[in-house]
Amino acid sequence: MSVFILAVGIGLIFFYVAAQKTIDSSSQERMKTNVARQSEHLRTILNIHYLYLEGIAEKIAESNELMNEENKEVLTVFQKNTSLDRLALIDPEGNAYYDNGVEKNVSHRRYFKEGISGNRTLSDPLESSVDQETRVVLGVPVFHEDEVIGILCGSCNVGELSQMLFDDLFSGNGYSLIVTKEGKIVAHTGEPVDHKFSYGEDIFTFYNSKTTREGHSISEVKQNFAMGEDGLVRLSGYADGSDRYLAYAPLGINDWMICYVASVTVAQQSYAFVEKYEMVFLGCFGILVCLLILYIIRKNRQKTEAILHSAQTDELTQVYSRKYAEQFAENALEEAKDGSIHAFFIMDIDKFKEVNDVYGHAVGDVVLRTFGVLLGRRFRGDDIVGRIGGDEFIILMRNVTTKEAVRTKADQLMAETKKLVFDEMDGKGITISVGIALAPEHGKTYMNLYRSADQALYETKRNGRNGFTIYGENRDITENR
Ligand code: GH3
Ligand code: MG
Repeated sequence: MSVFILAVGIGLIFFYVAAQKTIDSSSQERMKTNVARQSEHLRTILNIHYLYLEGIAEKIAESNELMNEENKEVLTVFQKNTSLDRLALIDPEGNAYYDNGVEKNVSHRRYFKEGISGNRTLSDPLESSVDQETRVVLGVPVFHEDEVIGILCGSCNVGELSQMLFDDLFSGNGYSLIVTKEGKIVAHTGEPVDHKFSYGEDIFTFYNSKTTREGHSISEVKQNFAMGEDGLVRLSGYADGSDRYLAYAPLGINDWMICYVASVTVAQQSYAFVEKYEMVFLGCFGILVCLLILYIIRKNRQKTEAILHSAQTDELTQVYSRKYAEQFAENALEEAKDGSIHAFFIMDIDKFKEVNDVYGHAVGDVVLRTFGVLLGRRFRGDDIVGRIGGDEFIILMRNVTTKEAVRTKADQLMAETKKLVFDEMDGKGITISVGIALAPEHGKTYMNLYRSADQALYETKRNGRNGFTIYGENRDITENR
């Protein structure tokens, strides 16, 4: 039974662990897929910006001169209709003219060099000296008769860019980061509960203070960043005690990586129903197993009781067998309280041999069985009734009040026995001879009581049977008849 319970317990634990593992790996996959989707999403948005800029660049390229008044007007008009913050035209010397009228030279910037060589370009994040916002500059070359005559640029707030990503994921729970492959923050939305990010900060320094789980490490993340590969790491060590997933994927722009960090609980939210069903299943299964165990225990107990009962009971008469009758009587006498009186009866059916001889052994058995049933019925539940030999029975009446009560009981027994008539014996009945000894007066142990009661029985037989004698009382037993 304990092996069965252990096996069921282990099975349930395995089931629970396997389900948790599946939920864990599914939610990790979902995180990774979402981050990859967001990476794609961001590229699409930037592409829309580029296409928009290229449309304006075509318009600008219609005139020979880049920085004429008409083109400057175009900048102002289009800036009003775009989500780009600032538009600027840059001539091949790097002189930039902004839609707000500001002019400056940007020839030293990487994005200028890339753009002027005829490519789309995206700058590193630049902190605006005017409004302190961090922006990236998107640039497209302005072609006139297949020649680059300048660059058209638009800037956008990188914070807003990452915000776009963020809103879609896990209903805004968690935070997103765009970082260089060295881990420097380009843009971020939201922050860890116990930390405030700033642009240019190295995320590896922060995540190194966390513990990684499931065999992952921050150096592995670093390696993946360097290779431009996606991945996921589980981090612990947060103030609220809940672990976090950090999922990352290459952005495909400027070697940047996009990261998303969300608490494991939030990431697994959509699997909460599975956990609920899992709990219901485990609960129901647990109850069923408990019921089964109770059923098995009950059946086992019944079986044990039946075995014990048949071991203790005389098969023919259904009273205790000799061995158990003696043992139980002995125990009862040992446990007897001081001052209590107990009566020990030995009964022998008169001339029982004749019953067997005249009517047969089977009829003899019927007589024994009937007499056994009578004894079992006539005495209290805690009295001990047993068959100790062929037609010999004993009774230990426990806690009798007086000797008179014993006499009354013996009279009743004699009368009840006389009432037994057997069709198998042509309507005849039986009589019994009884010897009675009292504890503690005639003996305190089973042996002593047995001897005394046997002597009393002998007296009854000697006086002509069909009666009872209490040890030490040499009564004329005819009065019992
Ligand atoms: P008494 O009046 O002196 O008691 O004479 P009795 O004939 O009853 O003699 P006794 O008590 O010595 O004989 C008991 C008989 O019971 C002897 C045996 O053949 C018979 N007997 C013993 N066990 C069984 C049994 O299981 N079934 C039957 N039918 N008879 C049994
Ligand atoms: Mg007899």
